[in-house]
Amino acid sequence: MSSVKAYAAKTADTPLAPFHLDRREPGPDDVQIDILYCGVCHSDLHTARNEWHNTLYPAVPGHEIVGRVTAVGNAVSKFKVGDLAGVGCMVDSCGHCSSCHEGDEQYCENGFTGTYNGPVFGGENTFGGYSQRIVVKESFVLKISHDEKDLASVAPLLCAGITTYSPLRHWNVGPGMTVGIVGLGGLGHMGVKLAHAMGAHVVLFTTSPGKAEDAKRLGADEICISKDPEQMAKQANRFDFILNTVAAPHDINAFLQLLKRDGTMTLVGAPETPHPSPEVFSLIFKRRSLAGSLIGGIAETQEMLDFCAKHGIGSDIEVIPMDYINTAYERMLKSDVKYRFVIDMATLK
Ligand SMILES: [Zn+2]
Ligand SMILES: [Zn+2]
Repeated sequence: MSSVKAYAAKTADTPLAPFHLDRREPGPDDVQIDILYCGVCHSDLHTARNEWHNTLYPAVPGHEIVGRVTAVGNAVSKFKVGDLAGVGCMVDSCGHCSSCHEGDEQYCENGFTGTYNGPVFGGENTFGGYSQRIVVKESFVLKISHDEKDLASVAPLLCAGITTYSPLRHWNVGPGMTVGIVGLGGLGHMGVKLAHAMGAHVVLFTTSPGKAEDAKRLGADEICISKDPEQMAKQANRFDFILNTVAAPHDINAFLQLLKRDGTMTLVGAPETPHPSPEVFSLIFKRRSLAGSLIGGIAETQEMLDFCAKHGIGSDIEVIPMDYINTAYERMLKSDVKYRFVIDMATLK
């Protein structure tokens, strides 16, 4: 065991505070990573505050992890000491169900093991990236080929990046397609960058006119203010695919109307209370589909990281010290971040 410093929530209504935890010594298949940066995801906050009613305390959040390999087990073949490596939302899955066989570990029929709060599906609690070190089995560790100076901006790719990349790839987004991205936050800004890099014509939907300039900088070809009925009417029946990243409950029909025949809208935001039910007529008249998507498999996460390295894509970030995390949560709730907080783990002393 190695004792490492961390930050934990001890109950749902106490702020995160310094904590010590034990990491296992690396077994034959394990990679030990000293964490350099960890992104701050909205799920971290939901878990710390038990908003999904499944948190085991103490809770150490963080599933956008990048760092340096400091030890490997003797059966590890893809990583060596000194390599840069990443860990996302999962650290294990059953390995033998149909989803695992097809590389969709995130849909494991027996439940994947989360990087933190793992016992959602049984087993011992797991502690995430708000810590100095993590030990993870090799098959759940990702290779990072970005320039080391860009490492902090790579961290959010491990959740926000793959959550948007996976549906864009699954629905074959590419040149000649018109793609809508709804919402410009941690997920949405990655959606805009990725859909643009895949060659699609990208339209960003936002309720904030103030975000227009930024959306264009990130790669949007057009901006539509979604609370303006006239602007929305002009977008009707033109989209092959819409990626809806908004977590707040809202009227799904307003966006379904924008899909062309056989178009699909995929939801990736996780609302605390359900969206109002969509109208069936919005779907049947043009054979439209409404879908959902959860992060991505390990092989696809590696593909996403390689794609981003090749296209020079990282997240737009604000680097913070560890002891700023409770303030960062308050700012995140107000969408006061462009577009992801990333903790510099060197500040965890
Ligand atoms: Zn996340
Ligand atoms: Zn499985």
